[in-house]
Amino acid sequence: MIPVNSVLQVGHFPEVMQAEIHKRLSPTLHPDPEAPAPAGQFQTILIRSNTKLPEALIKQMPAIRLVATCGVGYDNLPLSYLKEKGIKATNTPGVLNDAVCELAIGMLFGLLRRIPQAQAFVKNREWSKAPFPITTTLAGKRVGIVGMGRIGQDLAKRLEPFKVNIAYTGPSRKDVSYDFYPNIVELASICDVLFLACPATPETDKLINAQVLEALGPNSFLINIARGSVVDEDALLVALQQKKIAGAALDVFENEPNPHLDFLNIDNVLLTPHIGSATLETRQLMTNLAIDNLEAFYNQQPLLTEVKN
Ligand code: NAP
Repeated sequence: MIPVNSVLQVGHFPEVMQAEIHKRLSPTLHPDPEAPAPAGQFQTILIRSNTKLPEALIKQMPAIRLVATCGVGYDNLPLSYLKEKGIKATNTPGVLNDAVCELAIGMLFGLLRRIPQAQAFVKNREWSKAPFPITTTLAGKRVGIVGMGRIGQDLAKRLEPFKVNIAYTGPSRKDVSYDFYPNIVELASICDVLFLACPATPETDKLINAQVLEALGPNSFLINIARGSVVDEDALLVALQQKKIAGAALDVFENEPNPHLDFLNIDNVLLTPHIGSATLETRQLMTNLAIDNLEAFYNQQPLLTEVKN
């Protein structure tokens, strides 16, 4: 049983998520995270991973004991402050793998076969004037995955039927049959396609820099379904403009929802507005898992998916 007036919902939730929330609880709404905390004895916060939770907001609510974020990434939370105050956090891992991997595969083929450009070609009536330029086949290519975690492993399984060779990098070797490259530059140098599926952490900040892009090379593609901070966008823009890599598909950006304007004027990109988990089914699952964690907290049960901070 979740007590009334105990949950503060911070930030905006899309309609489908808000409907799920209202089926199970009536949180106090606090749409602007930067605004002063409303009056009340809130014990928990419900938030989405695209909304940054300011430390200053929590400081105004000393009774807060749990932050439940909807999303697997928790780089939106002030983790060291939460730890210092003994405030627990939960996220929603696993339930979004299908949607994120489906988008990643869609972006892969959209990028290699230039599907958005091909549609524009038909719609703009260019087809009758000349054939559409030849593109690239995936089969036989080497695909690298940066971050062989839940999403990385699901993605790799989905890629196997496409007749590709898969390799990966990360802090540690995983119990998988794919080739492990401890060094990301070495991985990039052997890849035709490099997927990013790691978390946003201080260690992954601008991990994809000029050196990695140089190693990727002019015939290879980058696909980012992780976080914008993982890529040095200035270096990526140079690499795209100077055709140092063949192209990039980006679902996430350093500055959302206003990505660097130069991305909009480049042809060899496929851009989506951070929609990895944005399907009806997945958003319902994420919302309900976040609420399950709130319920577990109020029922004094173990949290289902606690962030180990
Ligand atoms: P996960 O299970 O924690 O997997 C992350 C993997 O990244 C782990 O295998 C981890 O290795 C690895 N990693 C950590 N630091 C690394 C580094 N410096 N270099 C390379 N790999 C590193 O998380 P997940 O559920 O797969 O989600 C991954 C990320 O996807 C999330 O954090 C989130 O930011 C992003 N995401 C994006 C969307 C979207 O809408 N586009 C949706 C969902 C998730 P270890 O296990 O050895 O630590």
